[in-house]
Amino acid sequence: MNLILLGPPGAGKGTQAKRLEEALSIRQLSTGEMLREAVASGSELGREAKRIMDAGDLVPDSVMIRMISERVDQPDCRNGFILDGFPRTVAQAEALDAMLAEKGRAIDHVIEFQVDEDAMVARILKRRDEEGRSDDNEETLRKRLDVYRRQTAPIIPHYRGKGALKTVDGMASMDAVTAQLEAIVGAT
Ligand code: AMP
Repeated sequence: MNLILLGPPGAGKGTQAKRLEEALSIRQLSTGEMLREAVASGSELGREAKRIMDAGDLVPDSVMIRMISERVDQPDCRNGFILDGFPRTVAQAEALDAMLAEKGRAIDHVIEFQVDEDAMVARILKRRDEEGRSDDNEETLRKRLDVYRRQTAPIIPHYRGKGALKTVDGMASMDAVTAQLEAIVGAT
């Protein structure tokens, strides 16, 4: 089974993806985590990505599309994958559709986390203190939310049009969100 989790930063996608990964034996693919690993490795991609991430901007579509295309071909994604943080632009969504069709695969569910922005900001600032992420200062956060509204939210009608879109209440408790997700994917 192949899933996309969609929602603004701090909506709880990462936490829920980790739970689904266990429940369904499919792989969580977090492009944010992949990029943070590249930053930690000090590679050229990492240095460039750090600058962009610290500014709250998006890494170029071509880089991200290649990263995901290579990643879903790895043996640990044979059972399926959960995309967390990708696609983030309409161009990425269109490239993903084409790439998966070429590979003979498809997305089963696109699940949107609906959240209250103010409550979410509070969540992210709490996570900043816990994880020490350098892209979670308040100014960058506002930029990332703005980028989400302008560049990522337009993906929602793209998938709604294809009849693939489901929603969960991202403001519910962690366990309640997991239950909503399990109902969608049919896990017990
Ligand atoms: P995240 O952990 O998903 O919030 O991602 C952290 C940062 O990594 C984002 O603010 C972007 O700068 C970058 N990033 C992650 N995923 C993508 C993507 N699919 N496209 C472009 N940039 C991304």
